[in-house]
Amino acid sequence: MKFNEALRDIKIYEAGKPIELVVREFGIDAADVVKLASNENPKGCSPKVAKAIADNAHRAFLYPDDSFYELKDALAQRFSVSEESIIIGAGSDQVLEFVSRALLTPNDNVLMSKVTFAMYEIYAKQMGANIVRTPSYEHKVDEFLEAYKEHKPKIVYICTPNNPTGDATSREDVLAIINGVDKETLVVVDGAYMEYAAAKDEKYRITPNDLIGFENVIYLGTFSKAYGLGGMRTGYGIANTTLIKELYKMRPPFNITTLSLVAAIEAAKDEAFVEESIALHQEEIGRYEAFAKENGFEYIDSYTNFITYLFPDDMDSTKISDALFKEGVIIRNLASYGMNAVRITIGTAKQNSRFFEVFTRVVT
Ligand SMILES: *Cc1c(COP(=O)(O)O)cnc(C)c1O
Repeated sequence: MKFNEALRDIKIYEAGKPIELVVREFGIDAADVVKLASNENPKGCSPKVAKAIADNAHRAFLYPDDSFYELKDALAQRFSVSEESIIIGAGSDQVLEFVSRALLTPNDNVLMSKVTFAMYEIYAKQMGANIVRTPSYEHKVDEFLEAYKEHKPKIVYICTPNNPTGDATSREDVLAIINGVDKETLVVVDGAYMEYAAAKDEKYRITPNDLIGFENVIYLGTFSKAYGLGGMRTGYGIANTTLIKELYKMRPPFNITTLSLVAAIEAAKDEAFVEESIALHQEEIGRYEAFAKENGFEYIDSYTNFITYLFPDDMDSTKISDALFKEGVIIRNLASYGMNAVRITIGTAKQNSRFFEVFTRVVT
């Protein structure tokens, strides 16, 4: 069988290891496993959302309202944009896929930073596009504009805050990149962790409204991170209506589930839950910064719900991740990104204490 040529050099996405794997492999009780690998919200989801899902469980046999009207209405109000400028995806991942399929043809170029969200490359390669990366993992305006001039990419990806590094790009710099490219290039601004960055420092806050005036820019957001709904697979794209109409041509019917829709509508109404989640996060992340300093390694200042530890040569990120894994502490090794580093989702106070205890015991 001859597969599409484009698939030849696609590496399969490596997801954070699941709790079930630790239970199966090491016989550790699921309740004792600490999963700090996929940037899920350690508070879980809002109790109001959990109740809405339970109350609507009997409606699982029904397809959802395919217009997603109520959810788009909630998002339209929150971001002061029109409903026609919103598209809902099964995670913002699916919107990334729509974008890729709507724009790319074989041998187009796409531009992204040296280390960033792995799915940009995978969706682009599926369409046969070439990947161009800037020299730095940070989104530096001069590097982006220089690479832009040389390679004329069809899509430029700006991940702010950036995953898996945790750094962010200021609104000013994002606008400078957007203003430096012409209208033939789509700029994707992926704000999966925007709630955390905006709470930390206003100069990193980017809203869909800042971008909607540009005909060639789309903002992506998700319910998977600050809203605690990773398992419900719901995200969105916000852009001018012409672009959204084209993306709709890529969309399968009923692309999120009836219960995902219920959950997202309820979550969008519960801003207090997001604020509490961010407050917990801000309290706990300082412990990770102090721990790095005490143990003599660097970290990247984080604008997200995770922290990236950068190890010196005498510490190996793969060995460290494996040793923690055997103890039931799951973190994300960044060796596959070419970094001797690990990414750790900030957990609850108890989970974090467990991480420090196990790390101290098996690594230092
Ligand atoms: C988690 C994440 C997403 C999308 O997650 P979904 O669960 O598909 O909404 C998109 N971009 C980045 C950078 C992420 O970390």
